[in-house]
Amino acid sequence: LSAALEQLAEANSRLRESNRRDVLTGMFNRRHFREVFEQMLQQAHETRQPLSLMLIDLDHFKHVNDEYGHLAGDECLRALARMLNQCLSSEPGAVIARFGGEEFVVVLPGVASPRVLDIAEKVRKHIGGEPVHYAGQQIAITASIGVHSVPAGATASADEVLHHADDALYSAKNSGRNRVHAAAVLA
Ligand code: GH3
Ligand code: MG
Ligand code: MG
Repeated sequence: LSAALEQLAEANSRLRESNRRDVLTGMFNRRHFREVFEQMLQQAHETRQPLSLMLIDLDHFKHVNDEYGHLAGDECLRALARMLNQCLSSEPGAVIARFGGEEFVVVLPGVASPRVLDIAEKVRKHIGGEPVHYAGQQIAITASIGVHSVPAGATASADEVLHHADDALYSAKNSGRNRVHAAAVLA
């Protein structure tokens, strides 16, 4: 019986872990991100630490799918996930998740403006710096990034922060794509 229970517990924990993950990229999914992000905002507030968020969206990704096929598009998303992991491995506590479709989100605890702009710029350059290899083809990708920072001691809801970062992303897209924009927030 105890072996059976152990197996059950193991299966349970595997299930719990897979519930948090996006199947295509292996990154955290949006549901898990939301949970973690709310905890991180709370902790940042309690410890009077800043926190930054980046929304990363591939440019003209519909065109990549149309031109190279959906499987090539899938590989671009896996490559993007790998690039984000690599690029952000030196940021302690950074949480990366697939937000949906061709959009990823990154939370950077302890990071304030303007340093978040440097990190986002590094990420942007990394993504556009090397084509994705798929079935003998080289697929050039770029991304637009919207960032928003919550200063130390400030209060902000998850929705507010996401909304600001999304506005910034929208502005980066409208200004020509392949760039980083920060939300212009009136105090
Ligand atoms: P923009 O620069 O404005 O972001 O243009 P876009 O083409 O990237 O944006 P749009 O929202 O028009 O299209 C998103 C595309 O992303 C369309 C959709 O098929 C593709 N996509 C979303 N999820 C996946 C996926 O899991 N795999 C593949 N291959 N494509 C995906
Ligand atoms: Mg896009
Ligand atoms: Mg999108």
